[in-house]
Amino acid sequence: MSFAELQLHPAILKAIEACGYTEPTPIQQQAIPMAMAGHDLIATAQTGTGKTAAFVLPALQRLNAPATGTGRGPRMLILTPTRELANQITDSIRNYGKFMRVKSCAILGGMPYREQLRLLSQPVDIVIATPGRLIDHLNNRRIDLGRLEMLILDEADRMLDMGFTEDVDKIAAAAPSNRQTLMFTATMDSTMAKLAQRLLKNPERITVAGKKTTLDNIEQRLHLADDLGHKNRLLQHFIADITLTKAIIFSATKRDADALAQELHQQGHKVAALHGDMNQSARNRTITDMRRGKVRLLVATDVAARGLDVTGISHVINFDLPRFAEDYVHRIGRTGRAGAAGIAVSFASNNDKNYLDKIERFIGQTLPLHVIPGLEPTKVLRSKTSTSKGPKRGAPSAGRKNYAAPSARRSDSRSDSGQANGAERTKKWSSPKPSRPVTVEYRGAGANRQSRRVI
Ligand code: AMP
Repeated sequence: MSFAELQLHPAILKAIEACGYTEPTPIQQQAIPMAMAGHDLIATAQTGTGKTAAFVLPALQRLNAPATGTGRGPRMLILTPTRELANQITDSIRNYGKFMRVKSCAILGGMPYREQLRLLSQPVDIVIATPGRLIDHLNNRRIDLGRLEMLILDEADRMLDMGFTEDVDKIAAAAPSNRQTLMFTATMDSTMAKLAQRLLKNPERITVAGKKTTLDNIEQRLHLADDLGHKNRLLQHFIADITLTKAIIFSATKRDADALAQELHQQGHKVAALHGDMNQSARNRTITDMRRGKVRLLVATDVAARGLDVTGISHVINFDLPRFAEDYVHRIGRTGRAGAAGIAVSFASNNDKNYLDKIERFIGQTLPLHVIPGLEPTKVLRSKTSTSKGPKRGAPSAGRKNYAAPSARRSDSRSDSGQANGAERTKKWSSPKPSRPVTVEYRGAGANRQSRRVI
C-alpha cells in the first residue's frame, strides 16, 4: 500500500515524501483510514511502530477542513504521559505539517508558565500536552476545549500508570461530546478497557500483529553479574566496542544515573545523564546533544524509556533491570528504531532474580545468556524461568539451565564484539526479519500499576 492510496492531502503527501517514507507501516495502514472516516479508535501498538504518524496524519488531514466550532481553543488535543514524548510529537507535527499552515503548541510541566500563557492566548490548531499542566490551565480557565474536534490519547496505559486517570477524565469531560477520540496504548487490560468505555463511542479496534508486537530486529542478551564491580567491568567491555555508536545505559535511580555518568565522564567518555530531577530545558539540551553526536553514552532512568527517538542508538544497556516488566520492552525499543537493527544488553545479579523472571514472563521467552571471556560470573543465579528451551539461534552460550557451571560453559566473544548492528538505517519500513525471532506478548500492565511514579 502507498501513502497516496490513503487519500491524504497533497501537502501531507509531499511532507511524507520529504521524510523519506516509502510506504505506511502496518499501524498507519489500518489506523489512518479509520480515523479519517471519523471513527473513534483503540489502537494497541507500541512505540517504534510508526504510531505517531498514525494519529498525526489524520489530525492534519482534518485541519484542511474548516473548524466545526468557534473560539480560539485547540481543534486537536494530544495527551501524552511524558514531556519527551510530547516534544517528539511536536517535532512530528512540524515535519508532517511543514507544507501546511498549522499552529501547534506544547503545554508541558516543568516549562515556564509565561510562554504557555502567551501561546494559549492566541488561536491554536493542535495542543500537545501532559495531563498535569493542562489540568492546571483548564482549572484556571486559560484553555478552552469547547471547539475540540479530536482528542488523542497517546500511550494511554502509561498515563494511567503514572496516576493521570482522573486528569484524563476531567480533560475529556471539558471537551465536546461529539468529538472524535483516538486511544493509542501498548497494553490493554481491564482498567484500559474501562477508560475506553468512558471516553470512546463505538470504537474500532486495531492491534498490530494480533495480540503480539515483535521486536525482531533487536538482539537481546543477558549477562549475569556477580556484583556492582562486575557490572562496571561488563559495561567497560561494551563501551570499548567500536560498534557501539550511541547507547542508553539505564540505571535504577536518578542518583545512580548521575554517579555513573560522572564516573564515565572522568574516564573521558562523551556522556550525559537524563532523569526526572533535571528541568525540561536541561533534558531537551541533553537529547539534542545526543542527536548531534556530542553525547555517545546517555545514562538514564526510565524517563528515557518511552518515546525517546534518537537515530543511531546501537545499544541499550540495562545496567539495572527495570522494576516493571513492561518498561523492559520500552527501554529496549530505544534501539532498533524504524526497522534498523539494535542490541539490548541486560545485566542481572542474584538480587535481580524476581525482576528477571517477571520480564521473561512478560516477553514470553528466556533471554539468551551471553558470557564474555575473562568476565565470567562466579555466582549462580537460579531462576524459575531457567528451564530454557535451549539456546536461541545466535545465542553464544548454553541455556540458563547449564548456568551452574560457568567455567564449563562455552563462551563466544564474537557477537559481543560483533557486527555493526546499528549501522545501517534506512527510512524504508522493513518488516521484521525472521532470523531473530523475539515476540513480545503483552499480558496487561494492570498488576504493576501504581500512582504517579517518580522517574
Ligand atoms: P513512532 O512509533 O511513531 O515512535 O515512530 C518510530 C519511527 O518510525 C520514527 O523515527 C518515525 O520517523 C519512523 N517512521 C514512521 N512512519 C514511517 C514510515 N512509514 N516509514 C519509515 N519510517 C517511519
